[in-house]
Amino acid sequence: MRHFFVDEISSTDATAVIRGPEARHILRVLRLGPGSPLVLMDRLGARFQAVIVDTDRKQVTVRIERALPAPPPSPVHIVLCPSLLKSRPMDYLIQKTSELGVDTLCPFLSTRTVVKLPPERVTDRLRHWREIASNATKQSGRDRAPTIRRPVHLPELVDALQQDTALKVVFWEEEGSTDLKRLLRESPRRQAFVGMVGPEGGFTGDEVMAAKEAGFTTASLGYRILRSETAATVVAAIVQYEWGNLGLRNSEA
Ligand code: SAH
Repeated sequence: MRHFFVDEISSTDATAVIRGPEARHILRVLRLGPGSPLVLMDRLGARFQAVIVDTDRKQVTVRIERALPAPPPSPVHIVLCPSLLKSRPMDYLIQKTSELGVDTLCPFLSTRTVVKLPPERVTDRLRHWREIASNATKQSGRDRAPTIRRPVHLPELVDALQQDTALKVVFWEEEGSTDLKRLLRESPRRQAFVGMVGPEGGFTGDEVMAAKEAGFTTASLGYRILRSETAATVVAAIVQYEWGNLGLRNSEA
């Protein structure tokens, strides 16, 4: 069932009107008309089964049939910090990790980050990423899109996370003994997980050292070297599988 966002719906409303980009999508792209069922979600997380009753050029009127229960939020708060990547892999990373239930994305620039992001383009990029995250969120039926923070330089990010009591992991292909699977199974379960994934060229040794000093643990994702966007997606899936709710019930402690 297609999900659409509206600003706010109250459970006593009998109808709702969808306007703006969502209405355009329904009318011009999906070409839905009266009688088509859909799910409406508001920004507060409420969701309703609805059916289109009327359309005109710019808006879609729906009848609200019943309130739907929201899917349970993940019991683990996942913060993913990826290096800024080129446009396509970055878009992929944002889409996939949004579907997988990541809560916050904190992109960073590090020594080997190749992408340049001039300050005047930041707002535009953020808008683009947030739109991807919002579409992926809708598609996956989540309540809330991940928060995407403004990119910062790696030392600033590491500094900001210094006091964070989450399980903090820097993914490093040169780590020879600790892997993520073992780490999650052997660490006491925490409410939050922070994972940092490097650029195409990886982290420098100094960057890994600085992260360790700030309380990060280095971990491997196995013998294969993954592309950054694959690594980030895999991390989100593994954490959700081990500590979260990739299954139908929350993982047992
Ligand atoms: N510079 C490296 C590869 C970097 S891969 C090389 O060319 O050999 C890009 C990022 O993905 C890395 O910084 C790391 O965070 C993550 N990554 C990829 N494969 C990984 C693995 N097997 N273990 C841990 N991290 C990995």
